[in-house]
Amino acid sequence: MLNNVGRPTRPEEMDGEVDNFETYTGNKALNLETPLIFEQGEPGRVGVDLPEPKEFTDRLGGLSREGNIGLPDLSEPQVLRHYVRLSRQNYSIDAGFYPLGSCTMKHNPRINEKAARLPGLGDIHPLQPVETVQGALELIYELGEWLKTITGMPAVAMSPAAGAHGELCGVMAIRAAHDAKGEARTRILVPESAHGTNPATAALCGYKVDAVQARPDGRMDIEAFKAKLGPDVAGVMLTNPNTCGLFENDVKEIADLIHGVGGYFYCDGANFNAILGRTRVGDLGVDAMHINLHKTFSTPHGGGGPGSGPVVFSDALAAYAPVPYVVKGEEGYRLQEQVEGDAQDSFGRMKGNHGQMGMFIRALAYMLSHGADGLKQIAEDAVLNANYVRVGLNDLLHSPYDGICMHEALFDDSTLKDTGVTTLDIAKAMIDEGYHPMTMYFPLVVHGAMLIEPTESESKETLDMFIGSMRHLISKAQSGESPEHFTQAPRFAPRRRLDETSAARKPVLRWTSSAS
Ligand SMILES: *Cc1c(COP(=O)(O)O)cnc(C)c1O
Repeated sequence: MLNNVGRPTRPEEMDGEVDNFETYTGNKALNLETPLIFEQGEPGRVGVDLPEPKEFTDRLGGLSREGNIGLPDLSEPQVLRHYVRLSRQNYSIDAGFYPLGSCTMKHNPRINEKAARLPGLGDIHPLQPVETVQGALELIYELGEWLKTITGMPAVAMSPAAGAHGELCGVMAIRAAHDAKGEARTRILVPESAHGTNPATAALCGYKVDAVQARPDGRMDIEAFKAKLGPDVAGVMLTNPNTCGLFENDVKEIADLIHGVGGYFYCDGANFNAILGRTRVGDLGVDAMHINLHKTFSTPHGGGGPGSGPVVFSDALAAYAPVPYVVKGEEGYRLQEQVEGDAQDSFGRMKGNHGQMGMFIRALAYMLSHGADGLKQIAEDAVLNANYVRVGLNDLLHSPYDGICMHEALFDDSTLKDTGVTTLDIAKAMIDEGYHPMTMYFPLVVHGAMLIEPTESESKETLDMFIGSMRHLISKAQSGESPEHFTQAPRFAPRRRLDETSAARKPVLRWTSSAS
């Protein structure tokens, strides 16, 4: 539309030059550039006014630093603007649809944030005397009770700081259990489609990783699994629902088989969102499972804050769980901090302090505000939404595995063959459409994988718009008319295509002054 004197009111009416239009500053209106913070400093500029320190003598024995430490000298508005500008270059779940498969980037209700900032919870310190933080300990304890109830497992370790850390916790407990029996087992079985953290964890704990192939239907091949079992197998690490978005139907048999050879069953619970309130892993024979609080119970990660990966344990492994943990007694709550008494078989401590308190508060607020019925509906809606996306796209994109999926829809790149457009190009074109791309090239077992997880918190309108944009992009790619629409994307992002290979192989991780 033109305004009353004939000038354009929208950017696309700007006589077709938007793409190449240069500005003096490099800014494009709301799209603001910001130099590195080190480049903005000016020696002697300060953002605070502190009194001169009193005379003092240090006890560093002459080791105190002489020169300055190389931080930029900046005013407060410079610092503020720098970080606000950076934040505006970042995509967020609050700004738009975030279909990143395997990551469960769901809406984070504001009530969580409100609870986490309550002064009685937000302003406490992990080293305070326990009498002064009884409420916080009660919260950790209660959250643990919820996690035990939801999973049907008898014990929980709250301290692990993320999913991968939870896996480490689980496999260290498995190792401690074998050590206690005097058994030196050497292998851990991991399906081919596993998240990279699974084999990494097993290797870190000193085990040989033995990959189990998948069946054509995307589940672990149970015959191949049986063939690999033996007295040297310490356990299996299985994700359920798996990273192809499929429920491992043979899970009970897998549990019985691994127990039959004296091994333990580690379940990667990162996809728990899909079965929450519907399936109790305790009934499936699982011995340990981490729960990504930052996936299943909102608080999305990746620029959104820290993670938290509590681990639930079966009776067989409970005694080996790490310290510290909260104990409820007659006199209130206390912390079991040492490997002694009831905790004498514990494998020890994984991290300082008692876990990610802020995440505990958010997760419990999320559970309490949903209630048991609401938690169940989360899983149902997540699966419904994923299947809605799957059916909305499956005449254009090929699903490597037939049938209904769980919380995420998986496609391969076979319909892009000979178009000159790759999965990566589709992802870049999605950025121009205003989406965070789906997960690409994972799981590795699927060629050119596109893994789309809408989560339960998206509306039908959002899903329809997304399906519409994907249909538009895929049809355009398949038509072969303008591969450059894809290979040149993204056009509108603050940066376009970076040299990712150099960034990975020769990363420049430290700023050095051009003057020096
Ligand atoms: C996210 C994820 C992990 C790792 O969890 P982090 O919290 O990122 O360490 C492990 N396995 C699967 C299947 C995941 O999706």
